[in-house]
Amino acid sequence: MTDLHRLSIRELSEGLAGAKFSSRELTEHYLKRIAKLDTQVKSYVTVTAEQALAQADAADAAIKAGTATALTGVPIAHKDIFCTQGIKTTAGSKMLDNFISPYDATVVAKGKAAGLVTLGKVNMDEFAMGSTSENSFYGATANPWNLGHVPGGSSGGSAAAVAADLAPFATGTDTGGSIRQPASFCGLTGLKPSYGRVSRFGMIAYASSLDQGGPMARSAEDCAYLMNVMAGHDAKDSTSIEKDVDDYVANLNGTAIQGLRIGIPKQYFNVAGLDADVKARVEESLKKLEDMGATLVEIDLNMTEAYVPTYYLIAPAEASSNLSRYDGVRYGYRAENPVDLMDLYKRSRSEGFGAEVQRRILIGTYALSAGYYDAYYVKAQKVRRLIQQDFLKAFESVDVIAAPAAPTTAYKIGANLSPVEMYLGDIYTIAVNLAGLPAINAPVGFDKDNLPVGLQLIGNYWSESQLLSVVHQYQQATDWHTKRAAIAEENA
Ligand code: GLN
Repeated sequence: MTDLHRLSIRELSEGLAGAKFSSRELTEHYLKRIAKLDTQVKSYVTVTAEQALAQADAADAAIKAGTATALTGVPIAHKDIFCTQGIKTTAGSKMLDNFISPYDATVVAKGKAAGLVTLGKVNMDEFAMGSTSENSFYGATANPWNLGHVPGGSSGGSAAAVAADLAPFATGTDTGGSIRQPASFCGLTGLKPSYGRVSRFGMIAYASSLDQGGPMARSAEDCAYLMNVMAGHDAKDSTSIEKDVDDYVANLNGTAIQGLRIGIPKQYFNVAGLDADVKARVEESLKKLEDMGATLVEIDLNMTEAYVPTYYLIAPAEASSNLSRYDGVRYGYRAENPVDLMDLYKRSRSEGFGAEVQRRILIGTYALSAGYYDAYYVKAQKVRRLIQQDFLKAFESVDVIAAPAAPTTAYKIGANLSPVEMYLGDIYTIAVNLAGLPAINAPVGFDKDNLPVGLQLIGNYWSESQLLSVVHQYQQATDWHTKRAAIAEENA
């Protein structure tokens, strides 16, 4: 079969169970595509061909023995932020270029237990800081829709791999939009779960009160399959919630669109810098949902202007603390021939970290320092609470909130935006992380340059099923999620 990469996760699951093809055939098919096409896309940092084939053979044996799960034998790519035992985990940084984790992240372990086959580890902005994946020590990844553009970030490798059909789905992480924005830039569906829904154990920390893993795939249905594996309480992560997990696949039609109240925040559609094509496509998708029976309700989110400054104090503050562990002593990059301990620290960190990571460590350390702690960090925490309350008030009158995922489509590679310009691009995603809410991106069309546009739907706490269901039904009525980039049409 030459078109295995065109099958949905459900079709892969059924095809494997019905012995239409084996996991080995499927895995070889993907490995061939990666070997042929990833020289252009550059989505993988590490391809684990040998291990993948061994996992595929084990999966085929399990299918024969009748011990398979729904996903046994289905390949996946993991963002290179999830620790993988025996396989390099770099977080896109020179600092971890030689790091081999002694254990698997919970998300990776759950994937293995479900029988998933790991194709490899995919590229990302260094320590998940960025919006283009250009901040990776391993170089830029290309957007499959136009190889001269970025795939977004920080989970740009995950998005590009799926959009080029170099993996059927992938894990991502979202601290301030890093699942939703690359999904938007690459025409994919991506879900950022409520904070605490997915274990952070073994996920390299950026900003711990915001970090959350989630699925990236073509459709809500594909995401639901991966959420069924990723979600759940983990005793190894004290912030993971002890709350029953939904069956996200079974619930795909569980939410009625008829009568669904979709909040449209006035402030969001008046943001300077909102691209006219993005606005038009998002409005068309909302019109479609209205035709399907939803009610559009104008709402106020008065804290919108505070999102960027609040996130860009809290996230760097947490990063400066989290990244203090990379000292050149215990693991990671170590400067050569240090003259003394101070020199070892200084040079290991200035040689091992890239420019954006250093910028954030400086900002964060400044915001946490004795003289400025109250004025910056404590104040940002108070504003964070107001942002959360703004959302909770809105959810008294609506079921979900609609927004673009990003104000623009994918930037050109090398566009070289200033840090502040880049940060302003996060306006629609970061408040969701500050509040700990779930949100999803769905592809809803293209701009004049044929680059994908995404609609974001934000839900109340623990409403992942509802978000997946709304997008699933939208995708049953439309075909944006089935569109393929030219490179994905190529056969290996
Ligand atoms: N653009 C955001 C940032 O640079 C993305 C962070 C994320 O979600 N990992 O912080």
